[in-house]
Amino acid sequence: MSVIRTNLMQFMKSTVLPDLVLGGLERARGISYPHGLIGRRNFPVPCPRRGGVLVIAAHPDDEVLGLGFTLMKHRTDGDEVTVAFTTNGGGNWRGDRSSQDALAARRYLEACESLGVIGISPQNILSLGFPDAGLRRYMPEAAKDIALLISAHRPKTLYVHAIEGGHRDHDVTSFLVQCVGPRLGVENLYEWAEYNREAPLARPLVNIRFPADPYVADHPFWRTSCTEAERSLKEKMLTKYVSQAALIRNYPFDQEVLRRANPIHLMSRLKYFTNLSGTTLRYLRASTLCDVSSAQLH
Ligand SMILES: [Zn+2]
Repeated sequence: MSVIRTNLMQFMKSTVLPDLVLGGLERARGISYPHGLIGRRNFPVPCPRRGGVLVIAAHPDDEVLGLGFTLMKHRTDGDEVTVAFTTNGGGNWRGDRSSQDALAARRYLEACESLGVIGISPQNILSLGFPDAGLRRYMPEAAKDIALLISAHRPKTLYVHAIEGGHRDHDVTSFLVQCVGPRLGVENLYEWAEYNREAPLARPLVNIRFPADPYVADHPFWRTSCTEAERSLKEKMLTKYVSQAALIRNYPFDQEVLRRANPIHLMSRLKYFTNLSGTTLRYLRASTLCDVSSAQLH
């Protein structure tokens, strides 16, 4: 019986039905783009500084796990750093609205405390507020926000997750930024490895790495070195994320792996790493974003 139930669950997950149901639940709970989103903050930024560093991460804590040393080095060099989260890190269709608002507020406050350790001000920390674990249901809307964000900041360097199959919000964030960024003239686009199908976070990680990608051969990467003081500082930043302590303790503090993004075969890679079916991706309107022109993004 349990085999039948497991197969049925797997079949259901391969269809658009879960997203249809959850999208309906979100609308019923008043979660709608843009003003009904939970935890949407500091967006659009009223006075963005152009030419700085922009980080686009899915959840509060991803930016420190993947880029802590890199952000420290940028701050030491005097770079303005802006961090934008595509999701609110906690709020979605579950539970009542006030508890979801409170959870999103807590994650944002933790981000401010963590990034404040290296002098990143709350005014440079923003949240687009899309539902946690549900960014894929808002791909065209998130692409529009990301385009606005990039156009306002004109970053000299832009960082984002890799499409790597660790968390669908990470993969969708990466897909959107890699669709939009190059069309808006971003030249220095880098991606970090966090956790993925070959290095899952479910158990203590010892070797952060990018997973094998059949669509991009020989993709060069590098490991960012750190001093003992930088390692301690990163640990201090991560301790501010109290709500995520159980997951963070599985993550090695002394490893970061980056590479220059190679934004090719994005739809194929999204499909491969997320296991989302072509039908689901069409329903989610993901395929329309690959062909969008820079004029349409403004
Ligand atoms: Zn995350």
